[in-house]
Amino acid sequence: MLSSEKYTLNKVNIDELILAIDDGLKKLFEKCHVTWEECPDLTKAPFNLAASGLCGHPSIADIGSVSNLSPIPKRTKIYTFEQIARIVTADDDNDKKDIRDCFMIGAGAGPFHKIGHNCELMPNVLMHKNGDHFEVVNNNTQYADIFENGYRLAKCEYPEFGLMANLYVSEGKPGKVIKIVVEKRLGKENFTESIQSILREKYPNKSMSMGGVFIIEKGKAKLHIMPDFAKEPLKSTEAVDNWLRYFDMDPPLICLTTLHSNDPGLNLRMEHTHCFSDHNQGGHYHYDTTPDIIRITAYLNVAEAIYRIDRPTE
Ligand SMILES: [Zn+2]
Repeated sequence: MLSSEKYTLNKVNIDELILAIDDGLKKLFEKCHVTWEECPDLTKAPFNLAASGLCGHPSIADIGSVSNLSPIPKRTKIYTFEQIARIVTADDDNDKKDIRDCFMIGAGAGPFHKIGHNCELMPNVLMHKNGDHFEVVNNNTQYADIFENGYRLAKCEYPEFGLMANLYVSEGKPGKVIKIVVEKRLGKENFTESIQSILREKYPNKSMSMGGVFIIEKGKAKLHIMPDFAKEPLKSTEAVDNWLRYFDMDPPLICLTTLHSNDPGLNLRMEHTHCFSDHNQGGHYHYDTTPDIIRITAYLNVAEAIYRIDRPTE
């Protein structure tokens, strides 16, 4: 059994939140439009997600840790999407007993034991409860790896991942979400950091967590792809940085994201975003490199709970 802690988040006034995000982003982007509206069908292009919406018991699952990767990779740290679905739908307060669908998107490390080497994972899977277990209904998960002299993006058929993942979990139902459109970045922080800063400023004494999908429609972004595990231990941030491979990638990039404003003492990864595309590019999002022409559209939802799963003990 994996260890798991549940942290219930405070409910927020959505109108107040929309205003706060709109006010904040107006100072950081030349154009900005924030609304509360029906989520488009995310199974359609360009998103190609495994479920249509982001609603139904929204939560964030933070599984494993970067410490499973470095300094020395812990190759026993392998997780299945079913394990995560079971934990986040557990009937602890009786309000989840009717949940049948579990939709997970986000950022993690690939199932290296199946693929044969380490890589970036873009989890994108819908599971359905059948009796006492969950089975995969739709798995559009992809991975990005270092391949020959460059990189590639490929479909990942295995319902598993390694080392760590940060997942936005819901029932994948249609419903209203926060839609954000921004153009031309004026601030120093990237898109997700901008939202984190706004939340921290508006709600300094609260923990708030959000997740969903955004699309970089115009402008380039800097992404990294992890190569296979290093032969030597990665003992410093600098060593990790030298080991990672960085690339400028082209729009449109579909980005799966989770972010938190404050850590309520769970040793959380505060932000994690992975991207994929229809043009063989994808990986871990750092920031856009062309602030003058950047255009991003996001569909995000506010999490009701955080699940910290297999938190490192050391
Ligand atoms: Zn990553």
